[in-house]
Amino acid sequence: MRQDGFRSEEIDTSRPHPARIYDYLLGGKDNYELDRQAAEELAAAAPEVRIGVRANRAFLQRAVRHVLGSGVRQVLDIGTGLPTSPNVHEIAREVAPDVRVAYVDNDPIVNVHASTVLSDSATTSIVLADLREPQAIVDHPDVRRVIDFGEPVALLLVAIVHFLTDAEQPRRTIATLRDALPAGSFLVLSHATGDFADRRAAQAVYNKASATLNLRSRAEVERFFDGFELVEPGLAQVPFWRPDTPPPARSGEIGFYGGVARKA
Ligand code: SAH
Repeated sequence: MRQDGFRSEEIDTSRPHPARIYDYLLGGKDNYELDRQAAEELAAAAPEVRIGVRANRAFLQRAVRHVLGSGVRQVLDIGTGLPTSPNVHEIAREVAPDVRVAYVDNDPIVNVHASTVLSDSATTSIVLADLREPQAIVDHPDVRRVIDFGEPVALLLVAIVHFLTDAEQPRRTIATLRDALPAGSFLVLSHATGDFADRRAAQAVYNKASATLNLRSRAEVERFFDGFELVEPGLAQVPFWRPDTPPPARSGEIGFYGGVARKA
């Protein structure tokens, strides 16, 4: 066991993992050969996927700035992924230096974040936990150490909920998290969809990975915001959510919806 609580041997290199596939597509280095192969298969099945993951990451940045601009000072980022510059705490601190961030992921490789936030342990934590056990996340001492559920929280579920099957009850999961948040909190969510192109081949790549890809329609993704009020422009393909630069080529094909909503 290492000082940070993770065993390096818990990192599963026998199957491709979503965090590492995503890292590779973003041009990162925290991935293994199996992940790179899966990512290349994904890119063959969905040629716009590299543009898509970058557009998703850009959405995340704009959404975090928007929410912090509304005065929220705490971020609970579930499905944080591997370190990607800028990381959420870096985006946040450009807006407000006092923002506290809890990073949650179920892949032990995200522990490499520790090196980027080590000096920041009073205001940032990294928690190994699973979205499918939302109450355990809310109750986790390392989440509680930086997040005060008496004050508004920005809950980030960016490019993660599509890894939950319908049987895993993603709506109920999100409702559990929502109920833990006070009024004035926000949900930032993005989700893969097959609404703009046939993505069955892309979906098949994940069948041998550690999590399945569950594409959902606009109506299904919108229901994840139940109990929140979507801010303008509502649910949109990620490049079209409050763009601050001209949307990239092929934006119309990008299979990620994104939205930001406030709990009244
Ligand atoms: N939110 C980041 C990274 C998305 S990649 C971004 O949008 O840029 C999806 C992440 O979700 C991966 O790091 C993967 O390990 C994590 N993940 C997948 N299923 C999960 C689950 N059930 N619980 C917690 N994390 C999960």
